[in-house]
Amino acid sequence: CGIVAYVGEQDALPIIIKGLKRLEYRGYDSAGVALLNDNGLSVYKKKGKVSELENSLLDNPHLNSKIGIGHTRWATHGEPNDANAHPHYSSTESFAMIHNGIIENYEVLKTDLLNKGYKFHSETDSEVFINFIEDIQKHNDCTLEEAVRLALHKVVGAYAIVIMSKDEPDTLIAARKGSPLVIGVGENEYFLASDATPIIEYTNQVVYLDDYEIAVIRNNKLQIKTIENVETNPYINQLEMEL
Ligand code: GLU
Repeated sequence: CGIVAYVGEQDALPIIIKGLKRLEYRGYDSAGVALLNDNGLSVYKKKGKVSELENSLLDNPHLNSKIGIGHTRWATHGEPNDANAHPHYSSTESFAMIHNGIIENYEVLKTDLLNKGYKFHSETDSEVFINFIEDIQKHNDCTLEEAVRLALHKVVGAYAIVIMSKDEPDTLIAARKGSPLVIGVGENEYFLASDATPIIEYTNQVVYLDDYEIAVIRNNKLQIKTIENVETNPYINQLEMEL
């Protein structure tokens, strides 16, 4: 139900936790984050409040990360529990994804993936979505960005997604259709969130992603493309800061 992601020069986790708290008003049943550092790509998620997730991480020394994705979940497919919370790994655990919304054709996609030998660790439509992307990447031998684009042509439903990959430590890939996603443009840093409330304390420059657009933040640059792979010029809105 809520998305917060960060890539830049700051420590990502505190920004994400604070941002998720700002989105608590939207309602949710679980929370989680994915971080990337020398320990690899790690997912931490829990049923319950953002503060419970935060407390569970207090003694963990491996949370330094300049990139991260965070999520508050409002369950639609699968009960609220730790396994169904986001982020979800792809089956090779080489990338992780957060998703708001509902994938309506997930059952067909899941059956196909199960037949191909994919295993699932949750009951969510979202985990089907990320494995679907991974399967496309494998079969087309393409970049993750290209696989996301191809997958978006096949999924039916509503989504705001953000993906991070252990193979591309400076890259966030985001897309939306029907669920909101705002990109905050800072100095050498970018924020993604379901609305501007987690972003506004860092920057007043925001880009509202449109339906059927994919945002790629790579190497400190923002590129927006349609799912037809046509690059669009991001329109930067100046938000009024309430001081
Ligand atoms: N359909 C997804 C799930 O049940 C995402 C729910 C949400 O938007 O939080 O996990």
